[in-house]
Amino acid sequence: MVTGAAGFLGSHLVDRLLERRSNEVTGIDNFVTGREQNLREALESPRFRSVRADLSRLARLPRADRYFHLASPASPVAYQRDPVGTLLVNSTGTQRVLESARRADARVVVASTSEVYGDPEVHPQPEGYWGHVNPVGVRSCYDEGKRYLEALSAAYRRHYGLDVRIVRIFNTYGPRMDPRDGRIVSNFIVQGLRGEPFTIYGRGTQTRAFCYVSDLVRGLELLMEARRDVPTPMNLGNPREFTVRKAAEVIARTLDVPMRAVFRPLPEDDPKQRVPVIRLARKHLGWSPRIPFEEGIRSTVEYFRTLGIGRGRRS
Ligand code: UDP
Repeated sequence: MVTGAAGFLGSHLVDRLLERRSNEVTGIDNFVTGREQNLREALESPRFRSVRADLSRLARLPRADRYFHLASPASPVAYQRDPVGTLLVNSTGTQRVLESARRADARVVVASTSEVYGDPEVHPQPEGYWGHVNPVGVRSCYDEGKRYLEALSAAYRRHYGLDVRIVRIFNTYGPRMDPRDGRIVSNFIVQGLRGEPFTIYGRGTQTRAFCYVSDLVRGLELLMEARRDVPTPMNLGNPREFTVRKAAEVIARTLDVPMRAVFRPLPEDDPKQRVPVIRLARKHLGWSPRIPFEEGIRSTVEYFRTLGIGRGRRS
């Protein structure tokens, strides 16, 4: 079972799970930010079933022996457009997933986020860091929603003995990103393809670290299949740090366009730096990212070209 199956990460995870012939996969999505086209390949498989439903309204989920809970708007633009829905899917929605898994005696991986570290005072961020989050800021619907998801998962684990593993996912990119989700990678590629300057927020000195989607979903599967005593929560992300400006340069070079930028105000509560410590994932999953940013950006640009963005501008 994959919640958020039509999303960027969810759909790649579904495809990966379907590669194993013994797997039957059910995907749940309300298609608020998920997109039908992401499931095009999966829907051709007789071993995939897609359910259109809102998790926070669903009494119980279909039975499964593995639950991946990814459902939630995840980009700042998307979650700030629907802050209440974001809080509900991460609170009530998560409760539905955990309760269904408890009844089915199933194993669960719940998707948390690097946003639980807020605007971090510890850099890079290890799992033991408790974070620095504004509980009433514009990002709090997501940050606190995910912190609640973690707290609820920890309670189900401690109180009911549920086998639930929490993954803190750092910035991830790749094909099937929504060109309108307002993220740095999708914005810059779309702007570059249209011949527009990149919108750099603030001075562009803030940092992020970007993980290619295939690396990330491999990590999700490894975490699910790891031993029961695997440490949780666990960070998954690429530890190579980029400033926003540096990321813009790589994207401009890949697109073969001159690096032009317009500077916009830094959004409220935008974290100044963010990079994962992935010692736990390396040690307990044998996982580390394989795809360098330059290579992943090439595949991502290819995907955006297939959407016809900027067509007519370039020969
Ligand atoms: N950013 C930017 N220009 C854009 C979109 C994002 O400079 O058009 C910056 C943003 O301020 C942040 C970083 O890029 O510091 C990553 O933003 P994103 O929305 O991708 O995700 P976040 O890591 O903030 O959740």
